Amino acid sequence: MQEDRATPRSRQEAAELECPTCGQPFTAEVWLVIDKRERPDLVHTLLDGELNVMCCPHCGAEGGINHPMLYHDAEREQLLCAMPLTIQSADAARELVGELLQSLVAALPAKERKPYLAEVEVVPELDGLRAALIEQAISADAVIEDRMVALAVGELLNVTGELTFGRVMAEHRKLLLSDRAEVALDDIAQGARATGDRELRRRAQEAKAVLSRFRSTLHARQVALAVLLDDLAPLSDAEVAVVPALHTMLEAVDPQEVYAARIAVAPEQRPSLDALIERLAQQAAAEHQPEALAFLYNLQLLPQQ
Ligand SMILES: [Zn+2]
Repeated sequence: MQEDRATPRSRQEAAELECPTCGQPFTAEVWLVIDKRERPDLVHTLLDGELNVMCCPHCGAEGGINHPMLYHDAEREQLLCAMPLTIQSADAARELVGELLQSLVAALPAKERKPYLAEVEVVPELDGLRAALIEQAISADAVIEDRMVALAVGELLNVTGELTFGRVMAEHRKLLLSDRAEVALDDIAQGARATGDRELRRRAQEAKAVLSRFRSTLHARQVALAVLLDDLAPLSDAEVAVVPALHTMLEAVDPQEVYAARIAVAPEQRPSLDALIERLAQQAAAEHQPEALAFLYNLQLLPQQ
């Protein structure tokens, strides 16, 4: 069996880590490359949000490891690389992607070394990779979509604090802000009523109210920004080029997402983005739109790296 003797495509490596909770160093095996065909089990772990989650041997704190990871799907001819947000220079990111890619390509037989391997799409962190894969799975299968909605709604019902809520929202925004999530919560509330589970019923109703408030806030923000952009027209070419990034920031529910959108903008375009945000803020002030103004101020307060 020649297959068995082939070099493994998926690759794990010992990494020196420092526990963010207790500060002590420890070594752990971290996945650097995952080949979907070779290790579908690892893809499931990734989709469950459990990949590269480590437990500190000193204090027991558990957390995800921030490490670049390359994902390869030969059927789709797709390469995605999860990149930690802490890596901010494009050169450093390119170098890390290059190293991982080299080791993958070296493990592929010559007939599988196709041109698509030259194109790697970079996504922010493992969460970004997970979100991209979930989105793919969803568009391919409605049954999976229902399952993912149920999962997201379940997570939402289990959150305890503001912070966790923000994280769950950021991770599953598209699913949670869909009509399906609302239907799922109605079903849960009805089921809870039938079984007399008042606590669950209250939580489901509360979650539904919060989601609907989110939807209307996002909608109001989009409308306000569209009006402001119209009022600033005509935009320069440089400004038009950064409008998509602005829209991504607008839809974000978590500061980390806003930050990810900002660093995804090419460094030479960032001054245009900042200038456009400034112009929009001035316009919002002139038009007495306090909500839009507050949002734009928050964008300006983000770390400018
Ligand atoms: Zn620790």
